[in-house]
Amino acid sequence: MKFNPLTETDINALQSMVDTDRFSTGQSVLNLHAKDQSSHPRSRPEAVIWPLSAAEISNIVKYANAQRIPITGWGSGSSLEGNPIPVRHGIVLDFSRMNRILEIREEDFQADVEPGVVYQDLNDKLKHRGLFFPPDPGARATIGGMIANNASGTRTVYYGSTKDYVLRLTAVMANGDIVEMGTRSAKTSSGYDLIHLMVGSEGTLGIVARATVRLTGLPPEFSAAVVTFPSVEVAGKAVFEIKRSGLNPAALELLGPEAVALMNREENLDLSVAPTLFIEFHGITTGQLSEVLEMAEEICRGQGCLEFRSGLGRAERNRIFKARHGLGETITRSHPDCRILSTDVAVPNTRYPELIETIHREVDAHQIIGYTLSHAGDGNVHLVVAGKKGDRQEWDKIDRVVDTVVSRALALGGTATGEHGVGIGKRKYMATEHGASLQWMQRLKSLFDPNGILNPGKIFPE
Ligand SMILES: Cc1cc2nc3c(=O)[nH]c(=O)nc-3n(C[C@H](O)[C@H](O)[C@H](O)COP(=O)(O)OP(=O)(O)OC[C@H]3O[C@@H](n4cnc5c(N)ncnc54)[C@H](O)[C@@H]3O)c2cc1C
Repeated sequence: MKFNPLTETDINALQSMVDTDRFSTGQSVLNLHAKDQSSHPRSRPEAVIWPLSAAEISNIVKYANAQRIPITGWGSGSSLEGNPIPVRHGIVLDFSRMNRILEIREEDFQADVEPGVVYQDLNDKLKHRGLFFPPDPGARATIGGMIANNASGTRTVYYGSTKDYVLRLTAVMANGDIVEMGTRSAKTSSGYDLIHLMVGSEGTLGIVARATVRLTGLPPEFSAAVVTFPSVEVAGKAVFEIKRSGLNPAALELLGPEAVALMNREENLDLSVAPTLFIEFHGITTGQLSEVLEMAEEICRGQGCLEFRSGLGRAERNRIFKARHGLGETITRSHPDCRILSTDVAVPNTRYPELIETIHREVDAHQIIGYTLSHAGDGNVHLVVAGKKGDRQEWDKIDRVVDTVVSRALALGGTATGEHGVGIGKRKYMATEHGASLQWMQRLKSLFDPNGILNPGKIFPE
């Protein structure tokens, strides 16, 4: 696709569509929108606009479409695959000022939100009503960005991912049309499911201007356990057995020993340095949960765990899960001279131990610094790698390791990305993963966005 650079005429036209303080071509603003949290190279937009309504988005998109100017949505910029980097420049639409919670309909378990609402802020509002929005990517992500990436997190094994929580959307299409899609009914089998086409499309099919999200009740009680294993492979088998038992854990997070040692050092914890499973259960009564924990312990001991620590109080559970959530940032902080790459793959549960084995073998063989953090209950593994900035040789090794890991995940029947999205980094695996269905994705893209202005350079291989 050929795009046009922003001219003086374009700048004047776009500026007239919003208040003066909501349009910028300032260098520092462009720099701030040139890079997400990934290690992909920065690329600056030519202008940043902060819209306030679907009508404003529509005017801007309509103009950009006519002039063949790229448009890229921006939530918090916390993506890990370069998803919001404006690789073809053009306009970034920053949704941080569309951050109103419009309505909470408690008894329908629904909230209407603008795309720039940060999910933790929504949950802060909801907790007083005994409700919450479960997908939890950890970073301060916006609901628009979560919808675009189909984000998930530690609780996905029980509650599902963002796609399970979007009921209705107001979307601005590439030609500027404002389209309402979905329903406020809890279920529907009416027509094509446009909602789930938009979710996970990384802003390449339309711009989310408003969403109705599903909420759920806050669990009255929880219990947590920390379990250590002699090897990640044994831990993987325990994960499988816990899932098979029907105990329904709310989180099953597995960390490699190197990640546990780092958490101990940086967060003042005293966990045993071994492959460690963090398990959480949500339930109605403490009695029910203690029975569940007993059964989980029986399963883990049966699989040969080294230690099963339960009876954690709320404060200790929060400390451990906070450290787990903050691990990505902890890794970055503890390697100040390194660039950090976080790759994300997922496989069927039964193939999870094989994937982990491949990762460890590759990391050891290439002598790179790598941490494995897994949403093990979903067969979803993140390999977080630290490589010296500017060290070409080391980064060649890292690229080879990542390539082997992703290819292995695909060969095991998995996916190149469990939750971070395709962005820039996973485009080269799309043909292998999707085969002929990639062409149907391309046809859909052409139908929705014939001029290719919406977040170009993402999802599809060059
Ligand atoms: C420390 C750390 C931990 C993380 N852990 C997880 C995790 O556990 N699980 C997980 O899933 N992710 C995780 N992430 C990745 C990231 O937080 C998620 O992908 C999140 O959904 C991105 O949201 P955002 O608001 O930052 O969106 P951005 O990064 O700004 O944008 C994401 C995508 O959405 C598009 N977009 C933004 N707003 C709109 C809109 N209104 N309409 C259309 N398109 C739009 C952008 O163009 C881009 O393609 C983590 C990131 C970090 C830094």
